Amino acid sequence: TTSVTVIGAGLAGSEAAWQVAQSGVPVTLYEMRPVKKTPAHQTENFAELVCSNSLRGNNLTNAVGVLKEEMRRLDSIIISSADLTAVPAGGALAVDRDTFSQEITSRIKNHPLITVKNEEITELPEGIVIVATGPLTSEALAEQIKEFNGSDGFYFYDAAAPIVDKSTIDMDKVYLKSRYDKGEAAYLNCPMTEEEFNAFYEALIAAEVVPLKTFEKEKFFEGCMPIEVMAKRGIKTMLFGPLKPVGLEDPKTGKRPYAVIQLRQDNAAASLYNLVGFQTHLKWGEQKRVFQMIPGLENAEFVRYGVMHRNSFMNSPELLKPTYQSQKRENLFFAGQMTGVEGYVESAASGLLAGMNAARLAKNEEPIVFPRETALGSMAYYITHAEGKHFQPMNANFGLFPEMPERIRDKKERYEAIANRALTTLAEVKQEWHLSE
Ligand code: FAD
Repeated sequence: TTSVTVIGAGLAGSEAAWQVAQSGVPVTLYEMRPVKKTPAHQTENFAELVCSNSLRGNNLTNAVGVLKEEMRRLDSIIISSADLTAVPAGGALAVDRDTFSQEITSRIKNHPLITVKNEEITELPEGIVIVATGPLTSEALAEQIKEFNGSDGFYFYDAAAPIVDKSTIDMDKVYLKSRYDKGEAAYLNCPMTEEEFNAFYEALIAAEVVPLKTFEKEKFFEGCMPIEVMAKRGIKTMLFGPLKPVGLEDPKTGKRPYAVIQLRQDNAAASLYNLVGFQTHLKWGEQKRVFQMIPGLENAEFVRYGVMHRNSFMNSPELLKPTYQSQKRENLFFAGQMTGVEGYVESAASGLLAGMNAARLAKNEEPIVFPRETALGSMAYYITHAEGKHFQPMNANFGLFPEMPERIRDKKERYEAIANRALTTLAEVKQEWHLSE
């Protein structure tokens, strides 16, 4: 049988390799770590989460929740492993990052049809290939991809939030609670008075950042904007963003603090917590100085500081088909963040479709274009039909689905209707193409 080559064992590549192999087609999966490192990954595990440990919303009134449910119904290794290694996070699906990646690594390595090779790929191979090397694609391959696509890569920045050791948090000053008491109490909340907030704000906007390389344009994702950049937009901005106090009344006083910084559980043992929304580009010494002003964190030990990296994606509207195939070479697929889908789940979702279609090509079957009514199809449609000149990576959202034929005023009801239609459409797709669970 024809086999498939997958390059990169991240969120997209792991899912793609799994899908190909589960279709009965042999796969060779190349991953350069640990032989060659990226600036963000810390382990040699597959599908390592480089920043937050949250895969975001998990219910069907949330577009990324719909996307997850579709993936669950298509035998996704990323979602089933996340379900297995989940940690408490209110309405979100957050995982213990180590067991999550270990689970995926071992299931892939033990699959009889998958061969893993720890090598850096520097040229686009022949045959059926899925490139899933992510936003931190190694230099040599990035050059090859640029040359093949014949268009300029874009540059922007991504940032990761710091993580603290729970045993060094002053538990008398913080309290456990989820916003509006939704789900079980999952976050540690650090309340601030107005004076504390003002002092913190002043320190934050004056703190020293790591200088950016001048040849790279400063372009941030709204979803992963460094906290100091957000702060510089105005003294109130953070109060409407990550420091929003609504629904977080202090149980001790019953009062709403002026501002609240939330810490999210980062591992199953609940020994590590990350600062929600605190992606940052401050120098490490500055992070310690400024973040220790947060009530409860005066003596906190930072086990990982926030970091920022260059990130790249291609101009997919002019280069890809909604099957994730290159327009120029039908046996070449791209998947993951580099295609302009944004986020862990979205990256894995694109890997799922690329893997499924690469396997179909190997078996001389027609690739499937998922209907836009499904979350999977809505993402594929977006990245291939957005306006090329201003193409920006995108998270799953209800705005990407076609409107419902009837007008539904209530937002929650509308989202539920779109979600139901998505799952019904998926069931039809599965039947039409004889896809199994
Ligand atoms: P990756 O998961 O990065 O996988 C790519 C793999 O390819 C890596 O394992 C890499 O080692 C390997 N590789 C690279 N080049 C080669 C080569 N030449 N040969 C062989 N192997 C190679 N998304 C979120 O949802 N939440 C977040 O909090 C978040 N934070 C982020 C923080 C940072 C610093 C970055 C860079 C991105 C972040 N993202 C986040 C965005 C995105 O969801 C992740 O980057 C996600 O990991 C993308 O999945 P991927 O499969 O495309 O790439």
